[in-house]
Amino acid sequence: MANKLKYFVGNWKMFGNQDSISILYRINKFLVKKKYNRKNNKVIFCVPNTLIYNFSNKLKNRSISIGAQNCHQSKTFAAYTGSVNASMLKKSGANYIILGHSENRNQGESNKIIKEKIESALNQKLKIIFCIGESLSEKNKKKTFNVLRNQMRNSLSKNFDYKKIIIAYEPVWSIGTGKTPKLSDLKKTLKFIKLEFQKIFNKHVSLKILYGGSVNHNNAKLFSTINEIDGFLVGGASQSSKKFIDIINNYYKEH
Ligand code: PEP
Repeated sequence: MANKLKYFVGNWKMFGNQDSISILYRINKFLVKKKYNRKNNKVIFCVPNTLIYNFSNKLKNRSISIGAQNCHQSKTFAAYTGSVNASMLKKSGANYIILGHSENRNQGESNKIIKEKIESALNQKLKIIFCIGESLSEKNKKKTFNVLRNQMRNSLSKNFDYKKIIIAYEPVWSIGTGKTPKLSDLKKTLKFIKLEFQKIFNKHVSLKILYGGSVNHNNAKLFSTINEIDGFLVGGASQSSKKFIDIINNYYKEH
């Protein structure tokens, strides 16, 4: 397990100001001290747009990469008040971008728009963290696989560079609720996603999948038993250096 590349991704949502870099300095210090080097672990923080330029400059040559949380689909400058596109984010210093987060889908973002966003972000050489997940009512109606298949088929194109796409499976009912899927269900779902991804790209590709939804130091250890998980997308707990460090520590704790 220790040799497989693992991702620990923080999604700060609408949190943080310039002083919040101290959280990332503390996490960086921990990574260096514990020798959680960049070869085996990628630690990425997707921060508000206001912080990208400053944070990416201050964290140059350190163990943490900076990402954005969304973008406008337009590839060029255009009259979209309040929006930024992938090129602006890349030039500000982002290397990753979360797209398709359920909080944006809830605001009306469609699979078609997400596909355009993925395309424009890939054009800018941003790596994509593409979020998919079912709602509680879809889960109760046993529609999880259908929903995930639709989200993937309608937002991914076989012409995309699949090596630049990481999928974050985030059941909507699990985000910020403290509820997480049963390990056996999660395993099945992750296997399904990997298979579906291969069907879209029509070849055997090794996809990286993150799990997201109420990840904390307790369940991180449980999730470490699932081979199909390549890392975590962490919302609330990523706003505290202690909670985020505890997740990494517990993930690697011997059983
Ligand atoms: C998220 O917003 O991507 C997320 C996983 O949130 P939380 O960890 O707070 O459930």
